[in-house]
Amino acid sequence: MSLVPFDDRDGWIWLDGQFTPWREAKVHVLTHGLHYASAVFEGERMYGGEIFKLTEHTERLVKSAEILDFEIPFTVAQIDEACKATCARNALRDCYVRPIAWRGSETIGVSAHDSRIHLAIAAWDWPSYFKPEEKARGIRLAWAKYARPSPQTAPTGSKAAGLYMICTISKHIAEREGYADAMMLDWRGFLAEATGANAFFVRDGVIHTPTPDCFLDGITRRSVIALARAKGLEVVERHIAPHELPGFSECFITGTAAEVTPVSQIGEHRFTPGSISLSLMDDFARLVRRQLQPA
Ligand code: PMP
Repeated sequence: MSLVPFDDRDGWIWLDGQFTPWREAKVHVLTHGLHYASAVFEGERMYGGEIFKLTEHTERLVKSAEILDFEIPFTVAQIDEACKATCARNALRDCYVRPIAWRGSETIGVSAHDSRIHLAIAAWDWPSYFKPEEKARGIRLAWAKYARPSPQTAPTGSKAAGLYMICTISKHIAEREGYADAMMLDWRGFLAEATGANAFFVRDGVIHTPTPDCFLDGITRRSVIALARAKGLEVVERHIAPHELPGFSECFITGTAAEVTPVSQIGEHRFTPGSISLSLMDDFARLVRRQLQPA
């Protein structure tokens, strides 16, 4: 990945309805979104000029904001168009797209009824989340320091900035120990997901994936479940306990950034990227490039 800082690049960022030169798309230090994490965002990918599942992402963005009790002052159709326009303005056809909405600077305090809601959209070239050589072999995951909170503790259905605090800490620890990412349990002790991607396990040809009742039901997750079922594979959504890990032969994670990435290790457990992980990785790559019909 490029080491050029994200605030010092050429290009244009869509900010509150207008294109702003990249380096000028700034917020004030007294911004509610910064102090109280009243911010929600999306991560999307454009493949060959088309953003995969764009409207689903935009709908999730709007819903994420509603869960945090604010309303984005643009319609889903307007946001969809703005995402496409941002890619076009930056002459990008294969890229990552990052819309973010946040409460502005009108009030600093927990209560923020009257703050202005902002929306920015940036897009940049971003080939692969994990190093390509790592991806083919399967990535290694450590156990995360933190667990996904209960829906009674946090707005778990929202892709809210604040929920990523525990992901960053957990991922930093994992990376310092030489792992690519961390596997998080949920508040009950069941397997949940990686710090930015959903998890799947394979046993005797059947795919098992945690029920997304306290973490994001990823758009990639849903697409991969549909692809697997279309191939005649059985997919079981259920609570999965960590003690079941020795019984699984394959493991992979899914997400907009991660796409489909095989996993070779979670803590003390080993997996071998096999035919199911690798064929779904390939199917997903073809689906997003419109070389495979949606299931
Ligand atoms: N879980 C978390 C915590 C994530 O950040 C992401 C990425 N948005 C996902 C799951 C996967 O979601 P999607 O497939 O919609 O990108």
